[in-house]
Amino acid sequence: MAKFDHIVVGGGISGLTAALLLALNGRKILLLEKAPHLGGSLARFQRQGVPFDTGFHFTGGLLPDALLHRMLSVLGLVNVVEPEFMASERAHRFVFEADNRVIEMPCGIVPLRQKLKDEFPGEVRAVDRYFDLVEKVCAQTASMDLSRLTESAHRLDEESISLKDVLDGLTSNPLLKGILCGLGMCYGVKPSEVSFASHSRVCYDLYQSTARFKGGGDALISAFKNAFSRLGVEVQCNRWITECRVAADDHAKSFLLNTGEEVAADSAVLTIHPSHILKLLPRNHISRAFVSRVESFEASSGFFTVYGVWEGAMSPGFGSSIVSLFPNANFEQLLDPSYRGEQALVICESVEPVRGTPRGVVTAFEPSFYEHVAQWGESTIGHRPAAYGDYKAGRVEAIRERLATFNPDYRGGCRILDAASMLTYRDYLNSPDGSAYGIKQKVGQYNLIGKLPVRNLFAAGQSSLLPGIAGAMMSSFIVSRAVLGKDHFNRFVGEALCS
Ligand SMILES: Cc1cc2nc3c(=O)[nH]c(=O)nc-3n(C[C@H](O)[C@H](O)[C@H](O)COP(=O)(O)OP(=O)(O)OC[C@H]3O[C@@H](n4cnc5c(N)ncnc54)[C@H](O)[C@@H]3O)c2cc1C
Repeated sequence: MAKFDHIVVGGGISGLTAALLLALNGRKILLLEKAPHLGGSLARFQRQGVPFDTGFHFTGGLLPDALLHRMLSVLGLVNVVEPEFMASERAHRFVFEADNRVIEMPCGIVPLRQKLKDEFPGEVRAVDRYFDLVEKVCAQTASMDLSRLTESAHRLDEESISLKDVLDGLTSNPLLKGILCGLGMCYGVKPSEVSFASHSRVCYDLYQSTARFKGGGDALISAFKNAFSRLGVEVQCNRWITECRVAADDHAKSFLLNTGEEVAADSAVLTIHPSHILKLLPRNHISRAFVSRVESFEASSGFFTVYGVWEGAMSPGFGSSIVSLFPNANFEQLLDPSYRGEQALVICESVEPVRGTPRGVVTAFEPSFYEHVAQWGESTIGHRPAAYGDYKAGRVEAIRERLATFNPDYRGGCRILDAASMLTYRDYLNSPDGSAYGIKQKVGQYNLIGKLPVRNLFAAGQSSLLPGIAGAMMSSFIVSRAVLGKDHFNRFVGEALCS
């Protein structure tokens, strides 16, 4: 039986991060990925030679000394991937269609505060109080500072109060509330359900700066792959664990793979969805309370997405940009599965090399929920019923019209090459429901992170701590610290940040 120090399950950004952190500390690692290639949501795909990103369009945290930058430094990757920052005076444009109001969101909490105070002169106190609270939450969150990482995070009061309740206490201006909820598209939970703490942690770095990587998610994946080959990490794709063999002392002694092979390891880090983790744990080693806790987790929203390419010459000013169209400012409605009115639409434009020529690439997402496609849930890729095809064609047409209304150049200027529904994401990303951000991060909820009832199995991944690339990576930092021991890990991180 092959023997490793640690097995990492899932080759998305969480699994890549955990595998590299453990390997950098001299451990012998087996990384198992169910799909034929590494990267999970981070990976790009091509249509007619045009590269598209699946689940990585922009991020915060890439300024020097910001969280993602520091995590990449510790991993030795910070100089390997090149960030491309959005223009600082208009990093993200919010268009509130019903109010006929366009807000160019600048980078940085200081300019953003000022911008919103200028836009809403009667709401100066509300704006200041909101940003003070966001900054307070982030300053008090140990996991947002690599030198203060802790697995058993001290819970803040803001963990127990919803974003909606905080905003209702600050202002009665619906448009201002809408603007402050706008980045909810980056975690996919209604304001009444997300805690103010989770909202603040996702938004803080996105308020400070917005960037992507040159070469998209693939640039990061190849940086990891190069490090793995240097460090001897064994990567196996098309592989997954079918059974954990657990002894009476609640420790897994070996793992059976889908190939029939058995492997042993001191521990395993599971970066897959909590419901998939639950399936791996033998029922006689977990309590009913644990099962019902995991079963109570709900799915965050996902997206219906169209992928297009600019035909001929790009319109003047075409470049890296993010525009969010909001038909109204009511995010309770826009992030509700039962809402069937005009959807929000996030439009990401970028310029990508296609066979050596720069081409304008467009990805446009509208929030979607598993409920929208559940009737075709039994079908698989390449075997969908005609009614599903009609659903997809209908959504593509609606988004095409929407794009043309937003910018008439889109009519005839942009050719849509493909589209993805929640079922597409579910089946390509091996997730249970195709949600973009794993489970909903709800007020007062205890996610699955760290040590599991089978004592040498650990949970990490986007559903553990916070959604998005930075949150997923951070979950793996916290769990690697638990695996390696806190003194050893803190020394390693300290030295890596100083070098
Ligand atoms: C459409 C979309 C847009 C997004 N946009 C952004 C964005 O712009 N910025 C941002 O920061 N975040 C974005 N996100 C969210 C971000 O992509 C995720 O938070 C993050 O990539 C999750 O990483 P992960 O490793 O936890 O999970 P995943 O990327 O889902 O990786 C999990 C991996 O585990 C594999 N797997 C599953 N089951 C098994 C098993 N049993 N055994 C072995 N392997 C298994 C899967 O195949 C997958 O490769 C977006 C997501 C989507 C879907």
